[in-house]
Amino acid sequence: MHNTENGYSRLVKEPTPGVAAPDLVCFSHLRWNFVYQRPQHLLSRGAQDRRVFFIEEPRTAETVGLDVTQTEPGVWVVVPLLPDGTGEETQQTLLAQLFADFAVEQYICWYYTPMAMGFTRHLTPLLTIYDCMDELSAFKNAPTRLKEREAELFERADLVFTGGQSLYEAKRGQHPNVYSFPSSVDLAHFTPARQAQAEPADQAVIPHPRLGFYGVIDERMDLELIQGLALARPDWHLVLVGPIVKINPAHLPTQPNIHYLGSKSYSELPQYLAGWDVALMPFALNESTRFISPTKTPEYLAAGKPVVSTPINDVVRPYGEKGLVQIAQDVPEFVAQVTQCLAGMDSDWLPQVDNLLQRTSWDHTWTRMKQLIDSALDTTGTTVPLPSFTVRENGFDYLIVGAGFAGSVLAERLARDSNKRVLLVDRRAHIAGNAYDHYNDAGVLIHRYGPHIFHTNAKEVFEYLSNFTSWRPYQHRVRASVDGQLLPIPINLDTINQLYGLNLSTFQVEEFFRSVAEPRSPLKTSEDVVVNKVGRELYEKFFRNYTRKQWGLDPSELHASVTARVPTRTNRDDRYFTDSYQAMPLYGYTRMFENMLSHPNISVMLNTDYRAVQQFIPFKHMVYTGPVDEYFDYCYGKLPYRSLEFKHETLDQPVFQTAPVVNYPNDYLYTRITEFKYLTGQQHPKTSIVYEIPQAEGDPYYPIPRTENAELYKRYQNLVEETPNVQFVGRLATYKYYNMDQVVAQALTIYNKIAVAK
Ligand code: FAD
Ligand code: UDP
Repeated sequence: MHNTENGYSRLVKEPTPGVAAPDLVCFSHLRWNFVYQRPQHLLSRGAQDRRVFFIEEPRTAETVGLDVTQTEPGVWVVVPLLPDGTGEETQQTLLAQLFADFAVEQYICWYYTPMAMGFTRHLTPLLTIYDCMDELSAFKNAPTRLKEREAELFERADLVFTGGQSLYEAKRGQHPNVYSFPSSVDLAHFTPARQAQAEPADQAVIPHPRLGFYGVIDERMDLELIQGLALARPDWHLVLVGPIVKINPAHLPTQPNIHYLGSKSYSELPQYLAGWDVALMPFALNESTRFISPTKTPEYLAAGKPVVSTPINDVVRPYGEKGLVQIAQDVPEFVAQVTQCLAGMDSDWLPQVDNLLQRTSWDHTWTRMKQLIDSALDTTGTTVPLPSFTVRENGFDYLIVGAGFAGSVLAERLARDSNKRVLLVDRRAHIAGNAYDHYNDAGVLIHRYGPHIFHTNAKEVFEYLSNFTSWRPYQHRVRASVDGQLLPIPINLDTINQLYGLNLSTFQVEEFFRSVAEPRSPLKTSEDVVVNKVGRELYEKFFRNYTRKQWGLDPSELHASVTARVPTRTNRDDRYFTDSYQAMPLYGYTRMFENMLSHPNISVMLNTDYRAVQQFIPFKHMVYTGPVDEYFDYCYGKLPYRSLEFKHETLDQPVFQTAPVVNYPNDYLYTRITEFKYLTGQQHPKTSIVYEIPQAEGDPYYPIPRTENAELYKRYQNLVEETPNVQFVGRLATYKYYNMDQVVAQALTIYNKIAVAK
């Protein structure tokens, strides 16, 4: 029988009545009775027709052994007991003992932690499942081998489940069978908290209004936010329930209105919840929270509590967007949102909450998982190979190479607007191309490939991208370090006055430029453009050496359009751009791309060169956004692209320089230093900067606009025209020094042509 879900076709076998389902052996870094309820809810349901062995993390004990407890019919919780120093080999032996004692023969391995590969890789399960709940490698003190082990587990796994949508999007490129299963909620356990309950003694003494949180208190919490909130509203009481893990308790905020009540059992949680006025999710926004899908969101809501959360991806989508959870970024926003919640929620809020909660249940989740498991087992218990990425019955409509702006805009349009099935591949480990941003180890949002500032005059481009992000208004400003001063660039009235110690007016500076300019006509080169306007001296101080560094060429060897990007002004406007739309994606570029690509018709494969997969994947058309000469195997020779080395640094100080970008035309190997916090608006005690050091070799970043390159590109363009089934789009594929907005506009235009042609 065939079962088609999300467009994927899989072989589904009917289970044979009377044949016991294979045992389920689960390896976890969690305790069965931990706050984290997922294994308990899922595997208990699994135990209805099979035996389940839940292997916890080892516990230190004097003698080696196994602590085996049957917690409910069909479920055994097993704790390996290990004296300090004994490791994976002993665990392997203990596992063999368990298998012998219980006659475990036909079994499925179910992993919550890839670390367990270390003592289980010799096993021969019928099926291997990875239920991925977190980006564990982003956690504090994560074992260094975790990434390797995860790669090994991906190789092994037949099925991968993820605990939320963001994780799904992050992992789906790494395995052909990834399915998103956000955690559900035990309504029977939490809805009683809507009624008043007997107060636990430690909470009863805390005055109202109470703002509560339960869960692990670790590096994922925004402690500054908690402290700021406590300081801003000394009349509110913050109740924090949960173990303090991995962080030094001495570093926790200690305001008298913050109450740490310690760890409580799952059964006690509703009593605490019932006594709160508002529930909080004050998570920091960093690498370790990027993929979390907090189970407490539906639990708080099941208890009927208004919730205020920082913009965690999987909280914003769907809860924030549906208005069920209030999203706040900083202390003032938290104060405002909590104040509104305390004033009372709208009458239609709770019915909407209930509507959503009714649609999520652990029973439903388990049923869907079991279907997938059964589809991978045949009647005799041996595995049927699961379909690999060639599974789509008719392949993909489009193979898109490159997940930058060009590739992602086309993927989005084709999938959403034309209902095409798209496979998007990128050889990098991430989406967003050169616009990729991420939180670094210190938690500062940085742009990996240098500063990206969004600006455009094209309303349709801005409106299109606004479907996938909110914006932070931002006007970019740059200073150039010249003659020991930091002067505004583009050159303006203040630049001239400060450089020469003058006090000219706009009118006088116009006169000044006229007196120093060397008129040139036509304006062919980048030298012509500048000298024609501001004369040789300013050209030498601000443009000549910067350009030589940046391009490895003299401005006289470069097309006029390069320096023409930077205007000259006679007023005091010191903005770098004057476009009508200037803003940064509120939660960063990567988040915006994730929203763009979140569509069931789009599959993303990362770390994949298209040439490695194009033979195996049926597709009808291709969109190519990589370097055009590479596509044609450099048959006419290499097209020059300029490269850069990005040297990133994080400094233990809040501010490094007085402007977002400082250009160094005349000194050093680098052209400019960018301080990201100016661009992103992030508040952080540390700051991150990047130096850009131009170089000839390396990743291609800039097409080099000059006549001979245009001629060589023309030859490649002739080949492009002879390749009708492939669309070449973007900065590298059309060899154009395009900004982001121009690439978006180009991709939208190409899409419109494709859509009209169909
Ligand atoms: P890319 O973003 O380069 O995406 C192409 C993708 O294709 C890459 O991710 C690559 O890995 C992938 N790829 C290539 N070959 C293969 C293959 N064989 N198989 C699989 N994948 C492949 N623009 C602005 O508007 N404002 C700015 O402030 C700004 N600052 C910039 C600063 C720097 C340092 C740089 C380099 C560029 C800047 N830009 C800026 C320009 C902006 O980065 C580009 O316009 C935009 O990112 C181009 O998008 P794209 O999709 O054409 O290319
Ligand atoms: N430029 C310069 N001095 C400056 C700024 C720019 O000579 O202080 C020239 C240089 O050739 C540079 C070009 O103007 O490559 C375009 O600058 P822009 O800031 O637009 O470059 P990008 O951000 O694309 O690197």
